[in-house]
Amino acid sequence: MSVVRKTKSVNTLTTIFNESTSALSVVNLVNRLKSQMNKTTVYRVLERLENDGMLHSFIGVDGLKWYAKCTEDEETHQNHTHPHFQCNDCGKVECLDVTITIPAIKNKQIESANFLITGQCENCK
Ligand SMILES: [Zn+2]
Ligand SMILES: [Zn+2]
Repeated sequence: MSVVRKTKSVNTLTTIFNESTSALSVVNLVNRLKSQMNKTTVYRVLERLENDGMLHSFIGVDGLKWYAKCTEDEETHQNHTHPHFQCNDCGKVECLDVTITIPAIKNKQIESANFLITGQCENCK
């Protein structure tokens, strides 16, 4: 895996996530940054930020990959995870501030779990 240095691309994406309160899809980010960086760079930077623990990713209703900023108390999330909410009307995706505890499952080592809740957000209700 090639090392992405602390480049302008990393800074650009970090800033976008720092300014955003909701999750962002990869497709959205690629479109938004079209004039500044190519698709491969966007993917690579997102992967790097996820490995660094700044972002976490999950899959939305349409199979798209979404990224959101991790909050501090998520750093110790071994058997804890939070669900994500996707609005069926405006498409907004957010991290929900609740914790789901995954029970230990015999003979299985859990690495990740996805909880996607769909419905109408506060603006579309
Ligand atoms: Zn909505
Ligand atoms: Zn989240």
